[in-house]
Parts: sequence; C-alpha cells; structure tokens
Amino acid sequence: MKCPFCSSFDTQVIDSRVSEEGDTIRRRRRCTACERRFTTYERAELVMPAVVKRNGTRTEFNIDKLRGSLSLALRKRPVSTEDVDAAVARIEENLLVSGRREVESGYIGELVMAELKKLDQVAYVRFASVYKSFEDIGEFVKAIDEMQDKPRP
Ligand SMILES: [Zn+2]
Repeated sequence: MKCPFCSSFDTQVIDSRVSEEGDTIRRRRRCTACERRFTTYERAELVMPAVVKRNGTRTEFNIDKLRGSLSLALRKRPVSTEDVDAAVARIEENLLVSGRREVESGYIGELVMAELKKLDQVAYVRFASVYKSFEDIGEFVKAIDEMQDKPRP
C-alpha cells in the first residue's frame, strides 16, 4: 500500500481491527519513509451483476422490479409478505454471492420461478407461462399491468 503523503511503497500495518458489525477491517498504517500515519478500510466487494437482456443490451438490476413481478404473480394468493420478502432476499443473495459481473435476464427468471414453485403453484404457473414468452421481467410486469387494466368480461 502506497503512502498517500510521499508515495513511498514502504508502509507498515501497525494495527488491525474488525468493525463491530464484522464487515470491515480497519488498518492503521505507518509510512517508514516519511513516518506519517494513515488508515485504510477493507470490505468485501459485493456488487449486483448487470442484467443482460435477450437482445444483448444491459440494464441495472432493479430489486423493486423483481419484488413487483413476484407480487404480481402472487396476486390474491395466500402467501405472506414475509415469505415474499424472504424469496426476494434469497434471489438477491444468490446474485450477490455469485460474484458475476453480468447475468442473463433468463437466469433471474429461473431464480424467480424456483422461488415461486416453493411458495405457490398457481403463482408459479402464472409466472412461468407468461414470463417464458417475454424479453425480461419488466416486460412481464408491463403485460400484467395491461391485462389488469382491461375490463373483465
Ligand atoms: Zn510517506
């Protein structure tokens, strides 16, 4: 680690401690050239991968969109909000720990289907049948929105 004052590469760690939450390591360093001290922080890099759509364009992962599509599939189904939140958290965690920089939208669709399958069969079939023929979850949500706008016979 280069000294921020004199740019010497000869620095020493004089103290390390883990934060109370356990997610950060704080290191006190000393430059052996200029004797000045500085602090560095170390934390795991967890970045959501970008979503690659079927047409090859990239979009940012959107947790609200994900939650929205699950909720729509589960509309009027006997599944608690807590269970939906837990399913969303599992999908998010799966993507985070994958360490991937990019994922295909279809991969997220598969994760959603796997969660719905466990939560509610009707929602699963709803999602699977509609999702399969759409470009991404956003389009699926749009289609469901449009269906709901139409007057019922
Ligand atoms: Zn220095």
